[in-house]
Amino acid sequence: MRPLIVGNWKMNGLAEQLREIEAMAVSVKATLPSLDALICLPATLIAQAVLTATGRIAIGGEDCSAEISGPFTGDISAEMLMDAGARAVIVGHSERRQQHGETDAVVAAKANAARRAGLLAIICIGETHTQRLVGKALSVCATQITGSVPEGMTASNTVIGYEPLWAIGSGQVPTHSQIMEMHSHIRACLTQRLGAEGQKLRILYGGSVKPSSAEAILRLPQVGGVLVGGASLNATDFLAICRAAPVVPAHILHTPKEQRR
Ligand code: PEP
Repeated sequence: MRPLIVGNWKMNGLAEQLREIEAMAVSVKATLPSLDALICLPATLIAQAVLTATGRIAIGGEDCSAEISGPFTGDISAEMLMDAGARAVIVGHSERRQQHGETDAVVAAKANAARRAGLLAIICIGETHTQRLVGKALSVCATQITGSVPEGMTASNTVIGYEPLWAIGSGQVPTHSQIMEMHSHIRACLTQRLGAEGQKLRILYGGSVKPSSAEAILRLPQVGGVLVGGASLNATDFLAICRAAPVVPAHILHTPKEQRR
């Protein structure tokens, strides 16, 4: 499986920061042919970033509406993201779930919208610190998968981002055994929900990934890549994380359809 390295700029970035995208795109194409790199950006930057990246790095959105069009002031549909040149969208990020009250049902509707538009849906799940302390981390993530991953999703249109809330932006990273336990649990939940297809979805780890921690995380079983917030804002750190990904031998290189467009 090709590793997928995803950046999430959140509500950061003005046009001048597109030089970081340019630097990322040049190096990824030239030196890292065996991974997929994607930067998810504020909607205002997407069209310009697509031109800057010239197909060498994929560009995505950070959220989308479940609707196609209509009286939803301020919202952006998956079709609009596609039209702007995005090829993926994050749905159900914990900041959306917490700050905008997005439920699993809302996240599932957004994932369906991404599928409808032809975007790769990066569906985020993860437990709070309290839920982990009381031993509920596994059950919380299982419930989120059942509620947020629509039936019939496939490896070519869906990626799962496991992001424990207490690790996001905190500098705290779960132990490797906690990541392994959770990723193999997510794999089992996906298989139960999606059948054999559930074996194929990439599961990303996200939460305070830095150049110094990326290599060990990316080598853990069932970790198909990483979702990176703060460290994706500059090309130097993002590229260092990309370089930490295991090299996939040429004979098993496979580029998912959505990355080839
Ligand atoms: C995120 O918000 O998706 C994230 C992983 O952030 P950070 O890497 O900054 O913890």
